[in-house]
Amino acid sequence: MNTPSHSILNLAILDRGYLQGCTWPILFGSWLPDAAIFVFYGWAKVMGLPEQVIWNEAYYTPVWQSIFAIGNSIPLALCGVGLFLWAKSPSGIALSASALLHHLEDLPLHHEDAHQHFWPLSNYRFVSPVSYWDPDHHGAYGALAELSLVMVASFVLWRRVRSRWGRGILLLVNTVYVGGYWQFYT
Ligand SMILES: [Zn+2]
Repeated sequence: MNTPSHSILNLAILDRGYLQGCTWPILFGSWLPDAAIFVFYGWAKVMGLPEQVIWNEAYYTPVWQSIFAIGNSIPLALCGVGLFLWAKSPSGIALSASALLHHLEDLPLHHEDAHQHFWPLSNYRFVSPVSYWDPDHHGAYGALAELSLVMVASFVLWRRVRSRWGRGILLLVNTVYVGGYWQFYT
């Protein structure tokens, strides 16, 4: 999934009840698994690699794959949830639960770019038949599923978020998504 989708879904799911008000930890938790990918992209750009090489070659080198595995580890996120439950830290629980949710949201929507979600216990990758972007692997349906989930979650959040900034960002992300989908898949 795209990073903003994780943020919107996780806020809609987690920012209530016991974790209500843990908005920033939830946001950070939704970004954390993709953080290494942003660092990677920045590095690749500095190295002057063309887009094609970045996503088809450099992304798959063992060094970067090992780094991505850490951020996408379900066992690590589970340890975090356990640790912060024990420490009774709502912010910590929100952060690690949000990272865990990020992994679960990625699991059914990644094909060639499937993460090593079970690091360090196993190098196994669940290769989903559906990709959230790749047209060769039902990308049009995967992207539509992501778009639909984001729209439902945005509707839930819209009723909860009162600030002009919050609502503005929701509108912006949804507009970009609908425009992007229209351009690429129709
Ligand atoms: Zn991800």
